[in-house]
Amino acid sequence: MSPNSRKIRFIMELRQGGVTDTRVLAAIERVPREMFVPEAFHDKAYANVALPIGRHQTVSQPGVVALMTQALEVGDRDKVLEIGTGSGYQAAVLSKLCRRLYTIERFPDLLKEAEARFAALRLTNVTVQAGDGADGWPRQAPFDRIMVTAAAAAPPERLVDQLAVGGVMVAPVGADGGEQDLVRFRRTVDGVVTESLGPVRFVPLVAGVAPA
Ligand code: SAH
Repeated sequence: MSPNSRKIRFIMELRQGGVTDTRVLAAIERVPREMFVPEAFHDKAYANVALPIGRHQTVSQPGVVALMTQALEVGDRDKVLEIGTGSGYQAAVLSKLCRRLYTIERFPDLLKEAEARFAALRLTNVTVQAGDGADGWPRQAPFDRIMVTAAAAAPPERLVDQLAVGGVMVAPVGADGGEQDLVRFRRTVDGVVTESLGPVRFVPLVAGVAPA
């Protein structure tokens, strides 16, 4: 099958899996996922599987990326923060949907590779930082949207604090290796409302910056 027909089938599978937001589907269609996975896995770039990206980390299953992106309800004027850049795939998809994307990764070498991909794809609205994402990015806060792509054992309060009123955060919450729940947090004038979106499995959110 040609890469193009593989991609068309992939978009159809996402639709069948409940991704109905046409902006999200168009953003996914515009990002070449094969650029974000090691060459040995190029033939699996459009299969619905998580793939290794080095440092024992994975790029999430595309179905999960799509559903999480849809759940975040990103608008084109939004300032968005992502925690866990990894390969940069999720960041690239988000960058197509928002005004400005900030993304934090604790492995400087993974971040460097992701940055090279953003440059190659001319994604000029992405700003990166090597650091502990659990701290968020206080100098750029508040954010309209926050997406966390590593699981925290407890709701990440410092990130919730960096949400604007009307802001939305989607984050996996739960112990490493155990059952994790994808949670949507909405900051309203009266406080934070949480909602469970179902079980997921992510690598853990690890404290501190990794050695270079
Ligand atoms: N969004 C990524 C998926 C990455 S997997 C993609 O599209 O490829 C989760 C990533 O979170 C890993 O790269 C891991 O190193 C990173 N991570 C884990 N804990 C972190 C922390 N405290 N701060 C920043 N990044 C973290």
